[in-house]
Amino acid sequence: MISWDEYQEEGAVAEATPAPVVEAAQTALQETVAEVQTAPLEPAIEAVVNAAAETAAPVNDTLDRTAFENKTDENPAIAENIANAANVIANMDVSAGLEELETSGQRIQVDQKRMINCRADLNQLVPFKYDWAWQKYLDGCANHWMPQEVNMNADISLWKSEDGLSEDERLIVMRSLGYFSTADSLVANNLALAIYRLITNPECRQYILRQAFEEAIHTHAYQYCIESLGMDEGEVFNMYREVPSVAKKASWSLSKTHSLCDPSFTTGTPETDQELLRNLVGFYAVTEGIFFYCGFTQILSMGRRNKMTGVAEQFQYILRDESMHLNFGIDVINQIKLENPHLWSEEFQEEVIQMILEGTQIEIEYARDTMPRGVLGMNAQMMEGYLQFIANRRLAQLGLPEQYPGAQNPFPWMSEIMDLRKEKNFFETRVIEYQTGGALTWD
Ligand code: FE
Repeated sequence: MISWDEYQEEGAVAEATPAPVVEAAQTALQETVAEVQTAPLEPAIEAVVNAAAETAAPVNDTLDRTAFENKTDENPAIAENIANAANVIANMDVSAGLEELETSGQRIQVDQKRMINCRADLNQLVPFKYDWAWQKYLDGCANHWMPQEVNMNADISLWKSEDGLSEDERLIVMRSLGYFSTADSLVANNLALAIYRLITNPECRQYILRQAFEEAIHTHAYQYCIESLGMDEGEVFNMYREVPSVAKKASWSLSKTHSLCDPSFTTGTPETDQELLRNLVGFYAVTEGIFFYCGFTQILSMGRRNKMTGVAEQFQYILRDESMHLNFGIDVINQIKLENPHLWSEEFQEEVIQMILEGTQIEIEYARDTMPRGVLGMNAQMMEGYLQFIANRRLAQLGLPEQYPGAQNPFPWMSEIMDLRKEKNFFETRVIEYQTGGALTWD
């Protein structure tokens, strides 16, 4: 991004040292103008100019000014409405809408900003306190993509061919689309109806708005895959209620949003603040941080084997977004802990550990259900180890002790994409690929 200083500097340089071509053009132009100003007009040209001037005059005179005239006299009801509006605005009390803010009428100081229970003006984005949130907003925007940009032709022919995929592979595609088509809606609803109003910081809200749109794009992507493949939409979209291993995941997430979605719910007591933290852990660390990982790994493994490459490419773009959602959520939770250490009691830490363990168990059951046999170079046991490895990571990110000592990552190729420590490199490479219109590769 160009800064104000750089802009000034560039302008000054351009003026002081004009390029030779520009300079020559300027000189030629000046000479031409001087010639035109001094040379007498030929009589013929003069006649044309005069004629044009005469023709032009009536055009101005016949300009339809009636369109701009106030016609309110013709309709007294309209005239009264307009007069009422003018009267209200003339007597408007500007302070009325700002009364609920303790610092109304004041400029925000950075020290006044807080993640939760902040009473300072939330409409003032700057000065930034949490630069990481603003940076994630910028990174999210730089990674913008749309589902229709992915070519689904190869997927459609593979899905429709009799022996293109094994039954186990088809089960994985169906279950993944079944779970994710609803899961991203659950996350989006939680953001819009629960989290947004309770996170009292404008730069974080800016990211949450971006995230909410990304969740909409993800739901769109799943719908696009389901429609492209000609699946039974009723069956896929109802899987979160009808298939036990999928229903358990959705139900666990929903149990963490119920009380916060109540419009009368507010934070401000240790109990309600902890309820918000439960929600953040439940959605960011468990739903987006654990529940997405079995399905992502399965579909990405399929793409690496040159199967369902369009679906896999959609999932890879989604995964890129999701890894940032997860990081944002972890940062939010840790910042709330920092600003409200009394909330992070030993008892509450035990509860959070329990939540991570429950989420891991649910995802392990999902792995067993979707992989009754070995498939795509993996099996349920390997996935169990992987999920334990992921759970350890989530616990460590929250400052909690690992619960699965020695768990290893059996899918190192996944860490190439997801390893949070490599996030910067990940985005640098992928963003360029996306912005130049190239397809993702499966190396
Ligand atoms: Fe997400």
